[in-house]
Amino acid sequence: MSKNGKMRVRFAPSPTGALHIGGAHTALFNWLAARHSGGTFILRIEDTDNERSTPEYEQTIMDGMAWLGLDWDEGPKKGGPKGPYRQSEKMCEYTEIADTLIKSGQAYRDGDAVFFRVPTGEQITFDDIIYGEISVASEKASVNTDGTVKDIVLIKSDGTPTYNFAVVADDHGMDVTTVIRGEDHLANTPKQILIYRALGWDTPNFAHLPMILGADKKKLSKRHGATSVFEYKDMGYLPESVFNFLALLGWTPGNDVEIFDRFFAVEKFELSKVTKKPAVFDMKKLDFVNQEHLKAMDPRARYEAIEPFWREMGFDVGKFPAAYLENALVLMGGRGKTTRELAEFSDYFLDFDVVKSRYTANDITPERRENLKNCFGEMLWKFSPDNWEAEKLEDFARGWCDTNGVSLKEIAMPLRFALSGRKVSPGVFEMAALIGRDECRDRLAHFGFVG
Ligand code: GLU
Repeated sequence: MSKNGKMRVRFAPSPTGALHIGGAHTALFNWLAARHSGGTFILRIEDTDNERSTPEYEQTIMDGMAWLGLDWDEGPKKGGPKGPYRQSEKMCEYTEIADTLIKSGQAYRDGDAVFFRVPTGEQITFDDIIYGEISVASEKASVNTDGTVKDIVLIKSDGTPTYNFAVVADDHGMDVTTVIRGEDHLANTPKQILIYRALGWDTPNFAHLPMILGADKKKLSKRHGATSVFEYKDMGYLPESVFNFLALLGWTPGNDVEIFDRFFAVEKFELSKVTKKPAVFDMKKLDFVNQEHLKAMDPRARYEAIEPFWREMGFDVGKFPAAYLENALVLMGGRGKTTRELAEFSDYFLDFDVVKSRYTANDITPERRENLKNCFGEMLWKFSPDNWEAEKLEDFARGWCDTNGVSLKEIAMPLRFALSGRKVSPGVFEMAALIGRDECRDRLAHFGFVG
């Protein structure tokens, strides 16, 4: 950490795929550490692998970060004093640094490649902020399968630097104070420390994040389902939920608080409180977190989150006043674990065809149909569109049922079905009131429930 406690941290993805859960988790923890300490969050693109890196992947990683609200202070598109922030744009720097190691006898050329001579008899000890003290004998830092010392490749024969070399050059060159990354890099750290030492550079602090496991307690991978953050977006998870959920993988703000926003997380975050215990990626937990965020949203924001899913379902969203749709979602009262699910559950507020596809009124006997016609006929005659209010409709229906010796259910159930095509819906009279008198009349008439 720098003297004033402000961290300079970096997220260093290789643009060889979309932003996956593990990467997003690493990016998030770096972002939190930077924001909590009032420091700097750097985005560095590790694109030395020419064949697998593409500008499209770089873009989707940046889009994924933007979706999660992880803005960087230095990096591509933003610039900064320690650029370039793409490794491919600074190849000659690596060659120069490798040359100094060759000159000092700590590295050697073999063909077109450059190798680092792993010293023997040194002890490499570092205090990982999350994993604690780690101590490795230098001859064990890089070994062949038979256990013999293996010199570390710095520059490959095609002239590109290796990850372990470029990462040291860049973390030093960018004044990174704290390297926060996945635990899969724990084994690389001693190698990197040897290179720092050979160059006479101070090592940064290291913090390796816990492994993320699937529900079966195996390391999270494609087998466990969706891996890229955009797949979660498409499934109907809100960015604030994914943010909240990822933050809980290895960290907690304490006091049993589980649902929070980014401001709260920034305030409470402590890197030293992150646990090394593997964290389980539990979809049920994500559903819970998402549902809580959906519930807590203000009506306008919820409407904006659901709207694209209604459009995707083919509904003419523009036909309705936004206030009507906002109120429809308010009426849904916390139903739906995802935005997609909520959009589906509320489909009948936008479209009658979906109702018809679910309900036929075949269950209504002629005698009950007579009752419905009488009750709804009177109701439609009695209330003008302006008076079509939930409480009035309910009072009327109760009174009518009393007078005619019919249970309220006899009336309410068919009404619910005729309007929504569903067994479960918000309060049926509130729903009828929101849908409006004329639309209710049309739907009831379709099923032959009015005269
Ligand atoms: N490009 C490396 C990766 O994506 C970065 C690892 C590091 O943060 O040092 O795994």
